[in-house]
Amino acid sequence: MQFSEIPGLSALKSQLTGAFKKGKVAHAQLFSGISGSAAFPMALAYATYLLCQNRNDDDSCGSCANCTRIQKSIHPDVHWYFPKISASDSGKYDKVVAEALPRWRSFMTESPYGSFDDWALVYGQENKNLQLSREDSRQILKNVSMRSVEGGYKIIFIWGAEFMHPSGANALLKVLEEPPEKTIYLMVTFAYDSLLQTITSRSQLVNVPPNQLEEIHNYLVEKNIGDEQAMQLAKISQGRIGVGLRLLQSEDDMAYQQFRDWMLACWNRDLTSLVHGSEEFSKSGKANQRSFLTYSTSLIRNSLLKFAGNQPPIINAEEDTFIGKYSQKLGFEKLQSMYELLNEALLHLERNSNPRITHLNLSLAIVKKINAS
Ligand SMILES: [Zn+2]
Repeated sequence: MQFSEIPGLSALKSQLTGAFKKGKVAHAQLFSGISGSAAFPMALAYATYLLCQNRNDDDSCGSCANCTRIQKSIHPDVHWYFPKISASDSGKYDKVVAEALPRWRSFMTESPYGSFDDWALVYGQENKNLQLSREDSRQILKNVSMRSVEGGYKIIFIWGAEFMHPSGANALLKVLEEPPEKTIYLMVTFAYDSLLQTITSRSQLVNVPPNQLEEIHNYLVEKNIGDEQAMQLAKISQGRIGVGLRLLQSEDDMAYQQFRDWMLACWNRDLTSLVHGSEEFSKSGKANQRSFLTYSTSLIRNSLLKFAGNQPPIINAEEDTFIGKYSQKLGFEKLQSMYELLNEALLHLERNSNPRITHLNLSLAIVKKINAS
């Protein structure tokens, strides 16, 4: 993450880079903003700036080895702590971390503006009590006592500091007060008021304000969202980019449900539903028809990836589960044929074929494929 990827907030960016240039980097900083704000992207851009090997005055380079490794969250001197399910004993802690880390990496790369709920969903543990446990604090103390691997800054990232177990927080007080040289704590919170005073009094507050309407609008337009839709989302999101992006995602969630219902109807040879589905499809307008078929194609493509033993990018937990189950049920050849059928249908649509007939023919071809022995 570079500062330039975050819209607006230029005063704050200058304040952060300015402190570095003056040699006044506070060792414990608390990035505070409302849920959906740029609090985490800002802390991430700052960490990248601190470790970049080729930074300029205002930003990291975005392409050196350190920038790349932070982006993939594999830099050996950047340690990640975030709310997880609690391990029943310290022996299980490593397993909990090993299972959570790949999902965390997806989350921070795909949804840096995401909320706690977004994280719980990607993690697949939305009904569990997630926290930063005492074991996390023990691990932090261990990290702090070790030398930095590469001799530069060592960064301890604590995302969701409000989920820190009180006794775990107390265990950190001493290291927050007297950190070893070049160890930096970057904490991110969406609920400053519920933090323990012992934490807030020992860290420098970095207040990350909401974005301006126009900043979010432009940000979404740069992501290829239509001008009108971008403005509508910017208005609803009220300064929180993460909310705007989430709303876009929920449009995808609806597409997912539509896709799932469609596939189930094909699976069950439910002709009444399929005919009805084709009518609905034809009424939905050309752009929606194209985007739905493109989305369906990408899900089948991800199923193929999964079948071949590769982990496709996790967009949301439901899709991931579906892809896993479906790819096993159908197998490679059927998925491959469905992928080709969908691409053909897209081509027909481009050539102005009748959308209802295209969709119905496609559905029937999929029924035939799925139920072939
Ligand atoms: Zn760099």
